Amino acid sequence: MKIAHCILLLALGVNLVAQDQHSVPAPQVTVIRAGSLIDGKSDQPRRDQVIVIRGNRIEAVGDAASTKVPAGATVIDLSQQTVLPGLIDSHTHIFLWGEDPEKGGYDVNILMAPFGLRAARATVAVRRALEQGFTTLRDVETEGAGYGDIGIKQAIEDGIIPGPRLFVATRAISTTGGYMLEGYAPELAMPKGAQIADGPVEARKAAREQLDHGADWIKVYMTHRSWVGKNGELVSQPTFTVEELKAIVDETHGWGKKVACHAYGGIGLRRALDGGCDSIEHGLDLDDAAIVQMLKQGTWYVPTLSPYYYDWAPADTPNGQRDRLRAAVHEPSFKKALKAGVKIVFGTDMGGIPWTDPIAQEFPRMVSFGMSPMDAIQSATSRAAVMLDMEGKIGVVAPGAFADIVAVTGDPLRDIKLLESVQFVMKDGKVFRGK
Ligand SMILES: [Zn+2]
Repeated sequence: MKIAHCILLLALGVNLVAQDQHSVPAPQVTVIRAGSLIDGKSDQPRRDQVIVIRGNRIEAVGDAASTKVPAGATVIDLSQQTVLPGLIDSHTHIFLWGEDPEKGGYDVNILMAPFGLRAARATVAVRRALEQGFTTLRDVETEGAGYGDIGIKQAIEDGIIPGPRLFVATRAISTTGGYMLEGYAPELAMPKGAQIADGPVEARKAAREQLDHGADWIKVYMTHRSWVGKNGELVSQPTFTVEELKAIVDETHGWGKKVACHAYGGIGLRRALDGGCDSIEHGLDLDDAAIVQMLKQGTWYVPTLSPYYYDWAPADTPNGQRDRLRAAVHEPSFKKALKAGVKIVFGTDMGGIPWTDPIAQEFPRMVSFGMSPMDAIQSATSRAAVMLDMEGKIGVVAPGAFADIVAVTGDPLRDIKLLESVQFVMKDGKVFRGK
């Protein structure tokens, strides 16, 4: 009886294996007909293109007239639309919620929100990003939510929740006196939105911990508070010394990863560049020397223009004057960097901005400061991909790339604001929104 049972099971097992071998499905072939294709890399769009997708990869791109559509392919007709690569936002905070200063702002998020609530908000944030055509985010720190970004990234990769490809920075690193929460009684040990480290040993250790737990990038705060100085200039409080920063950069580069540095201007920015930061975040107040050094070192510049036009304090207060000065120095910094040929990458600081607002609002801001629409699109596609060490894999519609593809009605090169109304989103070969 038992033996017979075993034989039966064995036979069944063999049969199952045999069936499995027969039933492995060939990767699905999808064809997109594109009325106009902005491929993320070329300087000009191309009319009437066909994109052949096998599984999650782009196999071929060519003229509709001469490209053969494989038999049995699913055809998606975007012949009345402009097709682009999935967009990349290189500066987001999925664990922030655009905290309203009137409702307690940043501090309430850390002091009152349970981790479950923060994870739920982050889940909505990544979905919002994908809906708007952002198929990749570099999320530059969780603001007190620890290693929560690693969990969200895993949930997306496992197909549990929809969301973009994530490159995460985990906790970020700053110095004593270099991050919120602050302003409480000195007797209280308040939680901080970033990991605090002082001295090269602690700084290196913090980077090691974060890299060990899965950080794709290390985020460092090189300036913190800012105010209007004696001569009406923007002053930014520096944080790490060059020696401390170099320990972090050296450690991170050893792991084959990069360092993103929040820096406004002045001493902190100079130290950021001397210490070898790979990207400067915000860079509100770039002087000529900084621009020369960024060009020489190949430093990326993620200006995040949008948040500096939000939530200004009243004009007759010190913070209100600072808010207006920050916006006022940012524009000439951006224009100088653009003219000099610094590698500018699209980033918004979403999370600092409510996730209900359009992410693509950064495009018209960049264009209003003199960037061409095609350049702005490339800053959110192929150029961002190079920064993320994903050249040819994302940010481009070309053979070999992942099938991350979006579409809009109309011509975004004529009206860049159209990118706020993405109607079709495919990520990794799967349609998330649209046809
Ligand atoms: Zn930020």
